[in-house]
Amino acid sequence: MKAEIISIGTELLLGEITDTNAPYLASQLPPLGIDLYWISTVGDNLERLPEVLRRAWERCDIILTTGGLGPTEADITRQAIAMLVGEEMKLDAVLEGEVRELFARRGITMPLSNLKQAVLIPSARALHNMQGTAPGWWVEKAGRVLVAMPGPPYEMKRMWEDEVLPMLQERAGAAIIFSRTLKTLGLAEAVMNERLKTHLQAANPTLGIYVRTDGIHLRITAKAETKAEAHELVARREMEVRQAIGDDYIWGLDSETLPGLVGRLLVSRSLTLATMESCTGGLLASTITDTPGSSSYFKGGVVSYAAEAKAIAGVDRQLLERFGTVSPETADALAQAVRSLMKADIGVGITGVAGPTSIEDKPVGTVYIAIAGPKPRMFYHCLPGNREQVKHRATVAALNELRKALLEETAY
Ligand code: ATP
Repeated sequence: MKAEIISIGTELLLGEITDTNAPYLASQLPPLGIDLYWISTVGDNLERLPEVLRRAWERCDIILTTGGLGPTEADITRQAIAMLVGEEMKLDAVLEGEVRELFARRGITMPLSNLKQAVLIPSARALHNMQGTAPGWWVEKAGRVLVAMPGPPYEMKRMWEDEVLPMLQERAGAAIIFSRTLKTLGLAEAVMNERLKTHLQAANPTLGIYVRTDGIHLRITAKAETKAEAHELVARREMEVRQAIGDDYIWGLDSETLPGLVGRLLVSRSLTLATMESCTGGLLASTITDTPGSSSYFKGGVVSYAAEAKAIAGVDRQLLERFGTVSPETADALAQAVRSLMKADIGVGITGVAGPTSIEDKPVGTVYIAIAGPKPRMFYHCLPGNREQVKHRATVAALNELRKALLEETAY
């Protein structure tokens, strides 16, 4: 099956937003055995959009579009699809009821323009939008499938996962497709490629390498007749991958997140945590609190950016002067100070050089992370990237060191 992805939206052409929908959808197609031949981008324009749709209709079996399903005048995707297949749009009573209900639940009067989202053509069936108001369309005609999904990535992904993917899997003829993601940190992509060369070339299961903000993800996907067979194929490949790269580099599986894992470990050990951050400016505390329920183990964080602020938070001024703000001693002092200030079981201190200029002769990317608890721990990292990336990587590194400490330390 040949496919084309069409990203719709004038904002994309103006460079105001980056297209993340097309790469996401592109990464979803290989395990389905669907060959992606083209990705097109087009504005919300009633001449050019039908033209791009027609071209895709002529050369593909499957067309996936995102964007242009909203209630405004500019949202013309439905209209363009109706023109393409030569059908008339009609208000659908069920969809109308659903849209009205959505507004009623929020206690808002529905603007009339939202009725635009409750229309269908004879060849289309509606796809539920669990995250927004705009339903999608699954259009089937003349042996082709056209799927129209909303533009906002979180709405599109949910619709894709819940509705579109299962229907395409059925069409692709694969009885069962099963995936497992191994999340890693500490091994460079090139090294990973080298160690996994043979597995990366294999057809079933396939292995994909994805560079993400929390490390490199390895996705193993198997296709089989039965669930047991697919699971077995993935389990076998997972063992081989673990042997090839080393178990120590794998920190999590599937939907697990670093702050989520750290939270679970803290809860299971009945421990509390507090942070004092310099170079990360509060990003660690913010990331920890992304996890629901974090209030049960996270006592709080201090952002002590200036030396004066560190002193106010309980760090010895003489120590700061003697060792400098970017030093293992200071990281340790931050961790100790916040641990006692917040009366937490564990304190984490981070100090480093986010850039773009060096501090106290320490190069950009130098980061010291200290964990104060039953057994003090100190870590040095030299992180690549610009200011934002160093802050982010330092946060990820701190969470990973914390995870490892919690797993290893029997005293906790
Ligand atoms: P809505 O119901 O919110 O109006 P829509 O289907 O009409 O949804 P658009 O109006 O095209 O979607 O886009 C809404 C927003 O979704 C954009 O402002 C942008 O933030 C995001 N978005 C749209 N398309 C993409 C894309 N291809 N990649 C990333 N983000 C996108």
